[in-house]
Amino acid sequence: MKVLVPVKRVIDYNVKIRVKSDQSGVETENVKMAMNPFDEVAIEEALRMREAGVATEVVAVSIGTDKSQETLRTALAMGADEAMLIQTDADVEPLGVAKLLHKAVEKVGPEVVILGKQAIDDDSNQTGQMLAAMLDWPQGTFASKAEFSDGKVALSRETDDGIETLNLSLPAVITTDLRLNEPRYPNLPNIMKAKKKPLEVIQADSMGVDFASRLTVLKVEEPAEREPGVILGSVDELIDKLRNVEKVIS
Ligand code: AMP
Repeated sequence: MKVLVPVKRVIDYNVKIRVKSDQSGVETENVKMAMNPFDEVAIEEALRMREAGVATEVVAVSIGTDKSQETLRTALAMGADEAMLIQTDADVEPLGVAKLLHKAVEKVGPEVVILGKQAIDDDSNQTGQMLAAMLDWPQGTFASKAEFSDGKVALSRETDDGIETLNLSLPAVITTDLRLNEPRYPNLPNIMKAKKKPLEVIQADSMGVDFASRLTVLKVEEPAEREPGVILGSVDELIDKLRNVEKVIS
């Protein structure tokens, strides 16, 4: 069984985001980029499936500029077998990403697609759901546990009402929550080996899909500065402040 894992190149989660001076978006020039953290979890899960003999091959795919090859090399260094870059300089929204991934699924022929539950740059949380609808496959989103047997997967999802267990028949789309596993770090020998693993580049324009933007970003602004907090000396002082200064209690 092949597993396809879409991985997105995003600004590293440790970086403090800066808005561009023309407010058209956020600064990405000279900013550290990395694989979307939920996608690292997705790669890890696919690797564990291969190590457990459930999967035979793990294929990573990314949609983006030539620089997304770095992200794919990270996936290969973690242990993925092959990678595919669907190259475009356009900003592709989740609908366009799902359409291109649909084509990638037709090309690769996986029985499972594991995506992150969301990309930390757009926080859309849409791509997996839209891809499942396009493929007409069952979907298990926000998975915190996945057990495969007999052409099925039992998935646990953490919801506000408790832990939900789903039984999906394969092929299926899964999206990962951070609790699903702890991703491995690629070590030096594997980073070196990854340089020789196959990485196919396909032009997004050649895939016969309309991935043009439907949204126009009008303006991106920094969040308002928060007032610094104060430390009060006693509970009495707090009550006095709430009653007489802030006037939020009487
Ligand atoms: P989103 O719906 O944008 O929050 O993204 C959810 C998931 O879709 C991500 O965690 C990735 O697995 C996948 N994804 C989104 N954008 C891309 C992209 N440009 N290339 C590859 N995978 C992507």
